[in-house]
Amino acid sequence: MDPVGVTAAPETGPSPAWQNKCPWGTPKHAAISCSLADVMSEQLAKELQLEEEVAFPEVVTVAKGPFITGENTDTSSDLMLAQMLQMEFDREYDAQLRREEKKFNGDSKVSISFENYRKVHPYEDSDSSEDEVDWQDTRHDPYRADKPTTTPKKGFIGKGKEITTKHDEVVCGRKNTARMENFGPDFQVGDGIGMDLKLSNQVFNALKQHAYSEERRSARLHEKKEHSTAEKAVDPKTRLLLYKMVNAGILETITGCISTGKESVVFHAYGGKTDEDDKAVPPECALKVFKTTLNEFKNRDKYIKDDYRFKDRFSKLNPRKVIRMWAEKEMHNLTRMQKAGIPCPQVVMLKKHILVMSFIGQDQVPAPKLKEVKLSSEDMKKAYYQILHMMQQLYKECSLVHADLSEYNMLWHEGKVWLIDVSQSVEPTHPHGLEFLFRDCRNVSQFFLKGGVAEALNERELFNAVSSLNIAADNEADFLAEIEALEKTNEDHVQKHGKKSPFSSDGYPPIIYNE
Ligand code: ADP
Ligand code: MN
Repeated sequence: MDPVGVTAAPETGPSPAWQNKCPWGTPKHAAISCSLADVMSEQLAKELQLEEEVAFPEVVTVAKGPFITGENTDTSSDLMLAQMLQMEFDREYDAQLRREEKKFNGDSKVSISFENYRKVHPYEDSDSSEDEVDWQDTRHDPYRADKPTTTPKKGFIGKGKEITTKHDEVVCGRKNTARMENFGPDFQVGDGIGMDLKLSNQVFNALKQHAYSEERRSARLHEKKEHSTAEKAVDPKTRLLLYKMVNAGILETITGCISTGKESVVFHAYGGKTDEDDKAVPPECALKVFKTTLNEFKNRDKYIKDDYRFKDRFSKLNPRKVIRMWAEKEMHNLTRMQKAGIPCPQVVMLKKHILVMSFIGQDQVPAPKLKEVKLSSEDMKKAYYQILHMMQQLYKECSLVHADLSEYNMLWHEGKVWLIDVSQSVEPTHPHGLEFLFRDCRNVSQFFLKGGVAEALNERELFNAVSSLNIAADNEADFLAEIEALEKTNEDHVQKHGKKSPFSSDGYPPIIYNE
């Protein structure tokens, strides 16, 4: 070891690091290796990270050079310095955002705002309700010079000239600098933590106060905006896709959110003139946006993992693509249903995780769910027979089991029942397909029996009526046991004959019926 430290690496002393890193260094320092611009572009990159296909085509160019010209600026106060640093940072950050926004929007008639990402929320932009102006009004005005404080003669170490008190400026300053890390992750403190920066208590407290009030203010503004737009719960990527649909004239306007579920958000939109294939777009559309966060989809694995149509692809895909497959699945299933003449939304187009379909309802008001609507006993009976017929069609003509059929996924519109929400629907030969069908039958049967339709079949009768499987068991346990045995037989058949069966266009073997 070198005890004197003469040959030690430069970072042992504060000055070399300071000179290299100082973001507000004098203009003479031509090569600022880590300027604010670098820090900023890094953060920008993180915050505005848009993936491959929506990435901005051009490399972000950032203004070069020192930000504060030094000469005429009073740098004697570290409070001033810290504030200047923060202000400069925020300004540059916002300027960059504006540039991005402009590039993003170009000349199009619809524009997307990055306002929510801004650091400086101009007071003139917000409605100046009193609660917006909170921190100037507090008793601890950070700009007001504090009374000079005297260091109490307590808490010191060392002897003679070497005494260091706990209020030692250097020790305290370094501590304060380190404590900056405790500010919220969104609060930009520059890269001062890496330098040997000594923040006085006064500066530190001012920054702390500012961090808290900015955090609250930003959250409030953000909240207001989020709740006032139709873009609720939509990430920038989705926003861009929606915007492109409007821009391409496929949609006229996106009016608002109809439903926010665990796995999807549904919007209403007025249709534009024609879609990508020059086909007419329905006057009103529903946009089902599948959430791109994975957690919500974990418990749906069982639907898709064992679905032969998706088996080959499932293992190789990244999570984002798996989510797109839900949208794709819903599209294919709706198309099959449409062909069979089952009342359901008509597919307009699929763009990644966004499914555009016709809107069931009128003038932005979605048709009520069977759960919500009070039908006359006559309509109840009519609805029941219609559903019985639809379940048979779904099973026999579409080779599908809804798998989430209940009064929540059936809409009452124009005097009949419409089926929706079929992203989880599977083929009857899915390893759990018949169990799903039994569950559907139970929901339907219970709903109509409770609703006063005396003719309604019980769940076992309904299951047999839909599937023609004629399971004889007269209690649920035995019935389910037989269902599972059947599923097992089908599985074995698949194992033996491979998943590409010649019997089914969809790669499925036929259900093996009881002889
Ligand atoms: P999830 O239940 O998975 O969130 P759904 O497909 O059931 O998704 O849609 C949620 C709600 O959005 C429905 O209950 C219905 O009210 C409304 N909705 C969905 N699709 C349409 C449509 N095509 N027309 C009208 N309303 C719809
Ligand atoms: Mn639903």
